[in-house]
Amino acid sequence: MPRDPRYDILFEPLQIGPVTIKNRFYQVPHCNGLGYARPKSLAAMRGMKAEGGWGAVCTEEVEIHPSSEISPYIEGRLWDQRDIPAHRLMTEAVHQHGSLAGVELVHNGFHAPNRTSRLPPMAPSAMPVSAYDPVHARAMDLTDIKNLRKWYRQAALNAREAGYDIVYVYAGHCMTTLMHFMLPRYNQRSDTYGGSLENRVRLTREILEETKEAVGDRCAIAFRFAVDELLGKDGMTSEGEARDVVGMLAEHPDLWDVNISGWTNDSSTARFEPIEGYQEKYTAFVKSLTSKPVVGVGRFTSPDAMVSQIKRGVLDLIGAARPSIADPFLPNKIAEGRVDEIRECIGCNICVTGDNLCVPIRCTQNPTMGEEWRRKWHPEKIAPKQSDDAVLVVGSGPSGLECALQLANRGYQVTLAEAGTELGGRSTRESRLPGLSSYARVRDYRSNLLQQKSNVEIYLDSELDEAALLEFGFKHILLATGSRWRRDGTGRHHHKPLSGLDLLPVFTPDDLLDGNSPAGKVVIFDDDHYYMGGVLAEKLVTEGQQVTLVTPDVKVSAWTEFTLEQEKIQSRLMNLGVQIITSHSVETVTAGSVELACGYTGQTRTISADALLLVTARDANDALYHSLKNKPAALAAAGIKTLEVIGDAYAPGSLASAVYYGHLAARCFEGESWDAALFEGERPGLIS
Ligand code: ADP
Ligand code: SF4
Repeated sequence: MPRDPRYDILFEPLQIGPVTIKNRFYQVPHCNGLGYARPKSLAAMRGMKAEGGWGAVCTEEVEIHPSSEISPYIEGRLWDQRDIPAHRLMTEAVHQHGSLAGVELVHNGFHAPNRTSRLPPMAPSAMPVSAYDPVHARAMDLTDIKNLRKWYRQAALNAREAGYDIVYVYAGHCMTTLMHFMLPRYNQRSDTYGGSLENRVRLTREILEETKEAVGDRCAIAFRFAVDELLGKDGMTSEGEARDVVGMLAEHPDLWDVNISGWTNDSSTARFEPIEGYQEKYTAFVKSLTSKPVVGVGRFTSPDAMVSQIKRGVLDLIGAARPSIADPFLPNKIAEGRVDEIRECIGCNICVTGDNLCVPIRCTQNPTMGEEWRRKWHPEKIAPKQSDDAVLVVGSGPSGLECALQLANRGYQVTLAEAGTELGGRSTRESRLPGLSSYARVRDYRSNLLQQKSNVEIYLDSELDEAALLEFGFKHILLATGSRWRRDGTGRHHHKPLSGLDLLPVFTPDDLLDGNSPAGKVVIFDDDHYYMGGVLAEKLVTEGQQVTLVTPDVKVSAWTEFTLEQEKIQSRLMNLGVQIITSHSVETVTAGSVELACGYTGQTRTISADALLLVTARDANDALYHSLKNKPAALAAAGIKTLEVIGDAYAPGSLASAVYYGHLAARCFEGESWDAALFEGERPGLIS
């Protein structure tokens, strides 16, 4: 299909200093857990974005010196010239598709405890490092400042040699030395680098000037700057000093890349920032103070919203990290009039957990993310079918939908049967919970494409049993029948059912998703630790129930720390009046109350309850699978060649893992071995 002319503006080139970007799609720097440790995987992932049409593709933060390294987190490194070959892999992969490659050079100051290099961290003023390591940063003297400028300059020269077109000076989050110098709460110096704003900005100005002088002939100099920290008067604000900083440095960089800080605000999940373009209210002023192009982010997935940003003079370039992860081919899809094929980011931050857990990036919507090199997976291409056999997929949750879609893409004749009256399984059901409406995008992307395919038949309201499966005559059956929450309290904490469960009304998340909610004083026992317990507490308290959330962990929804949500969840629940009892478990249930035990002392206490909601663990719905598997003769007589169980029915997990295993099953169907690629891991070289 031809491109909608309304979107033409998104495909206009733009001059950025000495280089030209071919369109307005700009993949801003983002972490990925690949970094210096997996350069081939990293290059393949970045190259895929360029192939998908992103006009500029940037690195994650790239450490310029071992006095600033944040191990065990795996970022980029350009410590010296020996790192250049690894970076060349990335720049070449990006250049192959006519895109610009950008590098985000960073010095992390007291944010870097230097656990590997063991060098004492540095900061404008002496203070403990921001992590809880028993390490202090020392105050930088004038020699340190001179050294930092020298390292930045050398890193810029190395970046140019590695082939980068855009070189960043980075003060985009308060985890950077340059930002530390700008903020009075960290900078208590009395020399020419402290005190007045002009003094606090001095180091940034010097580094901008020196970077430009070093590489500005060939590379554009981008300045990433957090215009608001959402801390009010204690931090940088877009109403206050940020305006002065932009005013002072207006024409220094070739490109302003502006955002909000900290990372939890910048990469806010959809649960806390549901609206596309949520940073506009902070960043919109920047363009009025500079003649240079401005790029900003806001989880943009709709071309109309992007066009609006440009036409209204908010941004010149549409910045994206997560939307480019969820769909590396987003620009090309707009260019080719395939807007309804965009795989929209759901704002869940599973991608962020890769960096936070120091493992390769993954994405709920895009199961190929991070697998471009290791498995050679392409988000838009898949091997053709191996036979003309028809395939039956049972269950239309994330796993069944993804598997059916990819099998159909391979050319198989696919029948998808769903017991319920709507597609989507848990992505549909959970999307009705507070803050999770974007989860429906997992269904929408897939169901939309499936419904357009002539080789796919979809049957709703079709619960299939053993007899039906044996009767139908499909040669291949994939069971994606999902999971159910346990009703007996077992999970991580309890390995035996709770006693007394017949004395109190007991609910599970499935009951609430089915529309049966508890009333009165509700005790939630959250031994799941991801989003479900907290989301249901929010739902019940806003519906007027008196909610107490009990968790064996020291925090509510502890695993959401990795999705950058934990503090926001806990503060929202506290503000809503949810009573939170941490480090406790529900031990026994009696009529009208539950007994809790402290995880540290074992001391018990009793709290009154009208109902107990158990959010502990899930059971796979695999009964159908096991019963069929145990009847090989019946399977053979029915002509069934393969019977597989996938997704939550195989092993309950996240939405991301359900999609991933659906995808994996389709890729491996009649072909590729599911585990061979895992041994393709990048191994550290032995050459110094
Ligand atoms: P996953 O996350 O693995 O995709 P879900 O729980 O989201 O799993 O979805 C499972 C889907 O399978 C649900 O929509 C459910 O209605 C459907 N389902 C379960 N058992 C059957 C069955 N026997 N026949 C047809 N559909 C089924
Ligand atoms: Fe978006 Fe979630 Fe994918 Fe991250 S993991 S890009 S937030 S869909």
